Amino acid sequence: MTPQIQQRVVLAILAACLATTSCGSTKSWYKGNTHTHTLWSDGNAAPELVVSYYTDNSYDFLVLSDHNILSEGEKWFPVNGGRLTEEKLQGLVDRFGTELVTVRDEPQREMRLQTLDELRTRFEVPGQFLLVQGEEVTDSWDKYPVHINAVNIEQTVAPQHGDSVADTIRRNMEAIHAEGERSGREVLAHLNHPNFGWGVTVDEVAAMPLERFFEVYNGHSGVRNYGDAEHPSMESMWDLALVTRLEHNGLGLLYGVATDDSHDYYSWGPGKTNPGRGWVVVYAESLESDDIVRAMKAGDFYASSGVTLSSIEKSASSLSVAIEPIEDVVYTTQFIGTLGGHGEHEIGVVLAETKSNPAVYSFTGDELYVRAQVVSSLDHPNPYAEGDKQTAWVQPVLVKQD
Ligand SMILES: [Zn+2]
Ligand SMILES: [Zn+2]
Repeated sequence: MTPQIQQRVVLAILAACLATTSCGSTKSWYKGNTHTHTLWSDGNAAPELVVSYYTDNSYDFLVLSDHNILSEGEKWFPVNGGRLTEEKLQGLVDRFGTELVTVRDEPQREMRLQTLDELRTRFEVPGQFLLVQGEEVTDSWDKYPVHINAVNIEQTVAPQHGDSVADTIRRNMEAIHAEGERSGREVLAHLNHPNFGWGVTVDEVAAMPLERFFEVYNGHSGVRNYGDAEHPSMESMWDLALVTRLEHNGLGLLYGVATDDSHDYYSWGPGKTNPGRGWVVVYAESLESDDIVRAMKAGDFYASSGVTLSSIEKSASSLSVAIEPIEDVVYTTQFIGTLGGHGEHEIGVVLAETKSNPAVYSFTGDELYVRAQVVSSLDHPNPYAEGDKQTAWVQPVLVKQD
């Protein structure tokens, strides 16, 4: 752990102790990105360069999630001036050495891609940095993309196809779930970028079975996080889908993840799909894949594009969010929710707003659910969209209604 993270851990434990709910907890906060591409599919960098971005930037874990492929077996990538040039190859040799970077000239000039096992040997440090096996199960129905990240799988999950978008989601969720059952691992699936290609509607997110995760923020420049005149933003979609799931579908809460969906590691800025835009921070027993996924399934995590939290306390009467502040930065926390008996236009309303730290919301008992969003006065340094502020998204909690 970095000193900052150690400090965060201590603060989190202290906060938990003060709340008298989990004193003596061995849990810590771990920062990770669950959506990452490399040369194994359509990313533009070798996997070792991709992983080193994340180790250099204080991440604790990283899920490699290439399209319909795991980083395993022997795969050679052409050095042909496309995504791998002689210049990039030389950069890799300079940085990682010829023991790691293997090149051949027959049948053509190619570089062998590092496997996950090799990357683990090079980069993993117990308790400090973890690589998690993943895949972006990449499917579609008609012209609509359906992409689902499978996290902590042991074997590849083939796209299942279906006879509608909802059916395609359901079949892929079932296949990912089955891989968890088969392997005995904690496996998690998150539905990616619903507005990419206007692929997935609110009703389809609301009907998603077996899993409860979707990307409320994806750093890829083409995913339309903010919707348009006819399509809801990811924030609106979250509330709309929550209400349908809770009131009509019996499917329970929906959790939001922030991810990079990183593809571009050589040119930076607006319009590029760079790493470092969005991540999750998970309050887990250990930095091991099963523990990370187990904690996320329990809702013990938040999504972020820059804001760091020191604790999230949920009780029967309140939701409390403590921010790890940066000097002179203003944090505005909104508690967002929907009341029972709401009208059509009363979904996802701001129930309270505060600049206090910690930010505390006491339930009235009329809320279906409450979630929190903390917006910093700081701009995102390399935003998905111009003007984005650094933000943290706290998972919704159910409010017990008598
Ligand atoms: Zn995708
Ligand atoms: Zn992707």
